Amino acid sequence: SRPVVSSPKRTKEIIARHGFSFKKSLGQNFLIDHNILNKIVDAAELNEHKGALEIGPGIGALTEQLARTAGKVTAVEIDQRLIPILAEVLEGYENTEVVHGDVLKLDLQALFRERFGDMEGVSVVANLPYYVTTPILMKLLEERLPLEHIVVMIQKEVAERIAAAPGSKAYGSLSVAAQYYCEPRMVCIVPHTVFIPQPNVDSAVIRLAVRKTPPVELKDEEQFFRIVQGSFAQRRKTLANNLSALLGKDRREEINTLLTDCEIEPSRRGETLSLQEFARLSNAVVDKGW
Ligand code: SAM
Repeated sequence: SRPVVSSPKRTKEIIARHGFSFKKSLGQNFLIDHNILNKIVDAAELNEHKGALEIGPGIGALTEQLARTAGKVTAVEIDQRLIPILAEVLEGYENTEVVHGDVLKLDLQALFRERFGDMEGVSVVANLPYYVTTPILMKLLEERLPLEHIVVMIQKEVAERIAAAPGSKAYGSLSVAAQYYCEPRMVCIVPHTVFIPQPNVDSAVIRLAVRKTPPVELKDEEQFFRIVQGSFAQRRKTLANNLSALLGKDRREEINTLLTDCEIEPSRRGETLSLQEFARLSNAVVDKGW
């Protein structure tokens, strides 16, 4: 049987035969390490009753492994030049379809209904294009797609921010948002040598288990995220300072009282607040009608 797509030899052969040239602007770094691919697929806990949505299949290295593991696979690729290559590489995998398009513009709710309606669960599994990692993740989470896991290869720094604990340097609004929707776990750090072409940054595989119910009760989700954003607006400033910039300088005294009532010391910095503390604070702001 033919070697897997991810073998360096076959990858190079496919690329040469199709005269494919990499587009840096589309974040095209293809995986050529079978062990890493296995780790990604294993972390998604797929089986024949589960669906997988892949974003950015490239020449199909990961898609091929998903096709062998999941019940159904849909892979969304923006680059038209890759569509005929994918058709060739994935020939014979009846459970796998490729959609040509920009994942950020796609109606994913409709895709999930039509494509994965009969699956027991669906996960996103992808080696993401790094230039749009955060918009893609936020779209998947904010649209509240019925997802089980999101297992993605992303820039190591972004993975660290997503998984960061309060008080650490990497903790910020992305950590709070990701941890509100999911339970993150680092799967592995990946050296840049497992890609062609090699990216300039280190990568990591992260697994997000999407929560069925939120970890905190919010009176107003929009207000919660506004408070979180505002609390991190100027990282060197205290929480009280950041909040008065957000909620009104004339409310400075009231903000101090509110924080104390929430059992949050006003001199703390936003980056030390837990999800629970942000929830308490934003619910109190909602009660005030600010
Ligand atoms: N999955 C392949 C692999 O692991 O070898 C390729 C991963 S490569 C890092 C990212 C892929 O995402 C590229 O094939 C690129 O063309 C595609 N891509 C970039 N932006 C996209 C978008 N907005 N929507 C869908 N695919 C996109």
